[in-house]
Amino acid sequence: MDYISTRNKEVSQSASESIVKGISVDGGLFVPSSFPNITIDELASLEEKSYKERAAYVISKFLTEYTYEELLELTTKAYSKFDSEETAPLVKIDEGSFVMELWHGPTCAFKDMALTLLPHLMTASRLKVGAKDKTLILVATSGDTGKAALEGFSDVEGTEIIVFYPNDGVSDMQKLQMATQEGKNVHVAAIEGNFDDAQSGVKRIFADKEVNDKLLELGYKLSSANSINWGRLVPQIAYYISAYVDLVSSEEIAMGDKVNFCVPSGNFGNILAAYYAKRMGLPVNKLICASNENNVLTDFMNTGVYDINREFYKTTSPSMDILISSNLERLLFELFDRDDSKINELMNKLKTEGKYSIDKSLIEKNGFVGGCCNVEDTKETIANVFDEYGYLLDTHTAVAMNVYSNYVVATEDYTPTVVVSTASPYKFPCDVLEAITGKYEEDAFEAGKKLVLESALQMPESIAKLKEKKVLHKDVIKVEDMANTVIKYCGGKN
Ligand SMILES: *Cc1c(COP(=O)(O)O)cnc(C)c1O
Repeated sequence: MDYISTRNKEVSQSASESIVKGISVDGGLFVPSSFPNITIDELASLEEKSYKERAAYVISKFLTEYTYEELLELTTKAYSKFDSEETAPLVKIDEGSFVMELWHGPTCAFKDMALTLLPHLMTASRLKVGAKDKTLILVATSGDTGKAALEGFSDVEGTEIIVFYPNDGVSDMQKLQMATQEGKNVHVAAIEGNFDDAQSGVKRIFADKEVNDKLLELGYKLSSANSINWGRLVPQIAYYISAYVDLVSSEEIAMGDKVNFCVPSGNFGNILAAYYAKRMGLPVNKLICASNENNVLTDFMNTGVYDINREFYKTTSPSMDILISSNLERLLFELFDRDDSKINELMNKLKTEGKYSIDKSLIEKNGFVGGCCNVEDTKETIANVFDEYGYLLDTHTAVAMNVYSNYVVATEDYTPTVVVSTASPYKFPCDVLEAITGKYEEDAFEAGKKLVLESALQMPESIAKLKEKKVLHKDVIKVEDMANTVIKYCGGKN
């Protein structure tokens, strides 16, 4: 199967090339030339399979240069790093509502579902395309992608990785996770700005010919580990299919019944993967897109207007503090029946006016609904779910749970629903502890210890061990200096 650019359908290349490049030269994002199907019989055949087998099966439909066996080897390596046999366990909260825990990987956020696999895919893809230059992975992170990418790419042959994160925009735990990362090929810098500044800065570097030439002289070609890279999205499709199969296996639904997914969203990669699963034929009713106060996506879902000219809020769910959701471009491409000139028009509007609008019926027709909640509601939801069900939510998942509850009240849609849980509560211990005890503990490790006493949930080992680790990365830079910093890290002079 070939991959085409959302901004120029004439660009067509293999999956390996799209993974190695990360983003198309025209600034567009790679998408599969068509969607493979998954039939009810195939879904039934997955019931007997383990997670890594299900993932290899689904991914093989998209990465056709790879055999199932090849992919199974890679998914086996990737998911052996998880602390759950099931990899992405589904927990029943109440009749018809479930939580899919995607945070059992090495960095305790859902980014591990893809970023434990991407380095293996990158290495294999580099071989397939015969890459000679080193692959330089540039990452902008709102907190979780950075650590997961660092962990995944640390000491991976043929790669160098640089992560930029907003200095005041990530949790203490997230910052410490990144600042203590070991590995000969890893670099981390905080920027004086928010996530959108970091992401725009990275995109500018991708588009800057001078910088690219300089890097080439130094022996590097750029790629991305953000969800603009197709290699990030494709492993995410697998867990939606796996969750469905689990619901059938546990007799919560009958094969063929529809389900809803509710996804705490930021850059729109996670929920987009659910949409792709639906397009493959997975029986999906609604895709509920949940946001915090940075509710640009909620407004888009409800009105068709996407407008980033608004205040940026720092919330207790920092990984969703995003106004420019990159992957929306891939959804627009589908909503407009793959009209690349329309995408160019909309993306130009976004660049020049910071807004665009589309017919809202296109969004509804494709099953999307949006909702949002604020920091106060988030806290209350953590407390309520803990009191009522003894289940501890992190701040991001709590946003989704709140939006889902309000959705049910408003619509009386009782379709079985999977709320996607994107992080361990121990990544955001101060806010989670405050929600359930009413007391704020400033020290993240102290807060974590108290959470252990309050809840039945164990602290993940990788977080417990963080306190002993040495801080290795201390650079704080200005947004304007990002390109020069990249060149410096690659051994060049600026
Ligand atoms: C990245 C992230 C999100 C947002 O996911 P997108 O794919 O960017 O929409 C939500 N919650 C957590 C904990 C995350 O790390």
